[in-house]
Amino acid sequence: MSTKIPVQQFDPNQPGSTDLYERRQKIQPRFVRGLFQHLRNAGAWLVLGLYFGIAWFNYHGRQALLFDLSTRRFYIFGWTFWPQDFILLAWLLIIAAFSLFAVTVFAGRVWCGYVCFQTVWTKVFLLIERWTEGDRNARMRLDKAPMTAKKFLRRSLKHLGWFAVALATGVTLVGYFDPIRSLWHEMKLNSLSEAELVWIFVFTVLTYLNAGFMREQICMYVCPYGRFQSVMFDRDTLIISYDHNRGEPRGNRKRDTDLKAASLGECIDCTLCVQVCPTGIDIRDGLQFECIACAACIDACDNVMDQMGYPKGLIRYTTENNLEHGKPIHIMRPRLFGYAFMIAVVSALFVFTLSTRKPIAIDVIRDRNALYRETSDGLIENSYVLNIMNKTQQTENVNISFSGLAKDAKMQGEHTIQLAPGEFRTVTETLEEDPEEIHERETDIDFKITEQNQPTVSVDSPSRFFAPSN
Ligand code: SF4
Ligand code: SF4
Repeated sequence: MSTKIPVQQFDPNQPGSTDLYERRQKIQPRFVRGLFQHLRNAGAWLVLGLYFGIAWFNYHGRQALLFDLSTRRFYIFGWTFWPQDFILLAWLLIIAAFSLFAVTVFAGRVWCGYVCFQTVWTKVFLLIERWTEGDRNARMRLDKAPMTAKKFLRRSLKHLGWFAVALATGVTLVGYFDPIRSLWHEMKLNSLSEAELVWIFVFTVLTYLNAGFMREQICMYVCPYGRFQSVMFDRDTLIISYDHNRGEPRGNRKRDTDLKAASLGECIDCTLCVQVCPTGIDIRDGLQFECIACAACIDACDNVMDQMGYPKGLIRYTTENNLEHGKPIHIMRPRLFGYAFMIAVVSALFVFTLSTRKPIAIDVIRDRNALYRETSDGLIENSYVLNIMNKTQQTENVNISFSGLAKDAKMQGEHTIQLAPGEFRTVTETLEEDPEEIHERETDIDFKITEQNQPTVSVDSPSRFFAPSN
């Protein structure tokens, strides 16, 4: 017999009721100085420099990194890639994935803490926020204060700064898909196309929202890496941890307090490690999935330890085995060797594929309108469309030939063509054969293109020659 569960009305005002939806508390991280802050700054400047610099960098007269979607060609430092070169991209993605796994096994989420785009752009937005509204306490006071002319001015300056960075980010991102110099020129002439305007708008708004408002929520709820990285940790992974044995019992004290006599650990419970945390967690509660390993809490706590005259490292990079069992930090582990081996193998495959990649390519499509035709001279004729690509960034002269038919078979059409750098050309060729020489209804043939200057460089593409059945 089935029993119905009675539906109950939820009243949040009723005593004992708890709203299951927890509102997000705005996090106002405090600025911190220290060794890891310097490293984070170096990482951020490197990422920003590469992102904004490479877009404007020219190589051999062309934008060095350009994903030209309109012509489906990708220019990467002198190489031209086509969708047919997808395998190279696949190798690169596999190398990147294994590298990320290896780094995670070695030192946890260092990628997130130091060079992830979300972290870097949030850092830039926080910097603007600090310049315009002050550090944590000033910002919290400003949040609570009523709107005045001063508050309005500070808020406006902040949003203006955020918008400028978001716009520069959006334009640069579109500039990787649409040559950035012409994009900039069009912007100055106010003649951007509709598509360019839409994409710049989309990327600008996304950057503005992500780095200005979403911040740590992207790391906590959206980023898949943040969710699965913990399964790659082992007890020898370097993680940022609070030394519970050393720090507890925590409590307030004077600088020269005798810790033994006062039954205190070294944590003075100042909560600075919590105040600097960009995700708002307390590292003293143990390893948490929200931690992006930015090491801001290490800097904050080391400064406190210095002031108190205690040794640094109450919060530090360590391993679970070291912290809990006093075992030495053990970096070289079989898993890491396994990842290093896989990276070496896939890198070798990538280099091999790249170095043996032909600079020209051909793809043959048969004329679909007719299997064959008979000419006025009584010959059997088949037509083909040849898609020929020059993957290099130099002009290439190529010879077109075919094989598979009798010696007297002829090719009507161009026998030599000149291709501009990165050009894709469609050529129509017709093959004619004496019916006396044809013994099969279908004959396998090959079209071949050969570089004039380097006859050893050639590629071919198979097709078929059809004739009436005898
Ligand atoms: S910063 Fe250090 S001393 Fe201060 S609360 Fe955190 S762990 Fe304790
Ligand atoms: S707990 Fe420390 S390392 Fe983790 S996110 Fe917060 S400040 Fe960064």
